[in-house]
Amino acid sequence: MGVRARLLRAVIMGPPGSGKGTVSSRIVKHFALKHLSSGDLLRDNMQRHTGVGVVAKTYIDRGQLIPDDIMTQLVLRELKNLEQYSWLLDGFPRTVPQAEALDKTCQIDTVIDLDVPFETIKQRLTARWIHPTSGRVYNLEFNPPKIHGTDDITGEPLVQRDDDKPETVTKRLQSYEAQTKPVLDYYRKKGVLKSFSGTETNKIWPHVYAFLQTKLPDVSQNEAAMQR
Ligand code: AMP
Repeated sequence: MGVRARLLRAVIMGPPGSGKGTVSSRIVKHFALKHLSSGDLLRDNMQRHTGVGVVAKTYIDRGQLIPDDIMTQLVLRELKNLEQYSWLLDGFPRTVPQAEALDKTCQIDTVIDLDVPFETIKQRLTARWIHPTSGRVYNLEFNPPKIHGTDDITGEPLVQRDDDKPETVTKRLQSYEAQTKPVLDYYRKKGVLKSFSGTETNKIWPHVYAFLQTKLPDVSQNEAAMQR
């Protein structure tokens, strides 16, 4: 009957370092849907010094979540503009009240959960070491220094930024887990949670792709891009 396929309402979830950014951009490349990231939305508001932006900054600067009512209003207003499109929501909902508020306005079809072991993420996120005086950056996985812990040119010791230290990364992962586990459970109970487990984005991606293909046509022109 209808010429147009039903619109997809999807959410993507995954801890920092899970490859969520990469997977989201690949999804957008292949499928006709709009990507709405709550973090991008907030950063845009902060740059434009909107009322929400000014308030949001005070929370973000303290490393805290934006209160549910502000966040929900902001995102739901934006989604209203995307009513006639399929969309992929990224970074929202982060709490159960946000998920409940979202449910009141639309039915979520699927929640893509990138389930990457914390150990793998920790390895990835703590792989960066820098030489403080020159700013040279090394990555233990992709471009390690010739001698472990030492700058190639000066031979001086390398250091980790506070953000990249294992204890900081562990804290970030723990706080993600504490916040979002209830949201994952919420969607699991509703039967819309689809978890993709793995340690490498390039191995997880084909499964995400195949899954979404059952819901939306691939509109990308370049077949070779399928694996990327
Ligand atoms: P992100 O880029 O998704 O990591 O978001 C950056 C920051 O914006 C987060 O650390 C939070 O402070 C805030 N934020 C983004 N999305 C939400 C949300 N759904 N609920 C509350 N705070 C959020």
